[in-house]
Amino acid sequence: MHELSIVQSVVEICAARAAEQGANSRVTHITLEVGALAAVIPDALRFCFEACTKETMLDGAELEIIEIPGRARCLDCAGEVSVTRLFGTCECGSAKLILIAGEELKIKQMEVEECA
Ligand SMILES: [Zn+2]
Repeated sequence: MHELSIVQSVVEICAARAAEQGANSRVTHITLEVGALAAVIPDALRFCFEACTKETMLDGAELEIIEIPGRARCLDCAGEVSVTRLFGTCECGSAKLILIAGEELKIKQMEVEECA
């Protein structure tokens, strides 16, 4: 399950950033952007998140996942097409599509709280 390694690196990055704000900081909320074509299952991320955050600065943090639908631009008619797979065809019949959205996998936002 590669979601586990993704979550582990997200936790590492967020913990490092929180640590910069103070040793007693705590991450309360994380927003992830996950593209529909990123080959990542949001439910698996949520499942791993709880296990990976135990006894870290992220313990108890809320995980919000924003799913970004796949979109591509057609090189022949310049139209925008929504895609659910990496390869698709445009309404005009062209298969010359370039992905413009849907492969994202990034930390969009995190909230840190200072504990006294
Ligand atoms: Zn087209």
